[in-house]
Amino acid sequence: MVFGQLGGLLTTVGAVYAALLAIYLITCLTVARLNRGAAKIQPSRQTPPTQIRRDRKQSMLSLAVIATMLGCGHWAYTALGWGLHPVPGIGGGVLSLIASLLLFDTWFYWFHRLIHTRLFYRRVHRWHPLTVTPVVWSNNSDRLLDNLFLQSYWLLAHFLLPIAPAALFAHKIYDQVTGVIGHSGYEHGGRWCLPPSPLVGVTHHDQHHQYFRCNYATHFTWWDRLMGTLRPDHDREVSRNIDASRHHAAASCRGR
Ligand SMILES: [Zn+2]
Ligand SMILES: [Zn+2]
Repeated sequence: MVFGQLGGLLTTVGAVYAALLAIYLITCLTVARLNRGAAKIQPSRQTPPTQIRRDRKQSMLSLAVIATMLGCGHWAYTALGWGLHPVPGIGGGVLSLIASLLLFDTWFYWFHRLIHTRLFYRRVHRWHPLTVTPVVWSNNSDRLLDNLFLQSYWLLAHFLLPIAPAALFAHKIYDQVTGVIGHSGYEHGGRWCLPPSPLVGVTHHDQHHQYFRCNYATHFTWWDRLMGTLRPDHDREVSRNIDASRHHAAASCRGR
């Protein structure tokens, strides 16, 4: 009985890891290709190849930690019945997905701010922002403690929200894909990531890697605006980088 349950847990974690790894690799390779049609946010800086190798290697380990947390949460929910019952129907699924996006953004913002304090920064978070000019492979380059702070949401989500597993997985896929795009170093956003839209473009997190003490949220700019942690030139830089990407794309088309 115990071995059967343990086997189920290991199978779940293994399947989640395989899925996250596949999404990570496909998104990284696709976005790296799309970078050719966009403008580089930090044009005078190059990411050292050693740093890219470091991020790629660490991401494999980090994704295993995230898969363990997401897989354990899913297994406890489905096999043991732990957690809150989901809101029924498609409408309930959409509502719980939106609630999860908002809650995770809040979770991420405040824990992210916490691990930037003097007490935690060196021990927990220092590894990730060492890459000042991030690349697609940097998204999951985090240490274990960092993941325990920022990613434990995926272990606990079913206790916090009445969300169905499919809606939670949809959120995780969104988080994984936008996270890779957000580290690409090239602005792929359009006017939809400028105010009044709360959605973040690539410039938002790229500025976090450049300047460290700003832009802590992950999906939306709301918390950064409300708490005064959004970099003052953020909106201007997003707009400038979007225009630069458009000119770059137009010039590439003319050059063909
Ligand atoms: Zn940070
Ligand atoms: Zn980052």
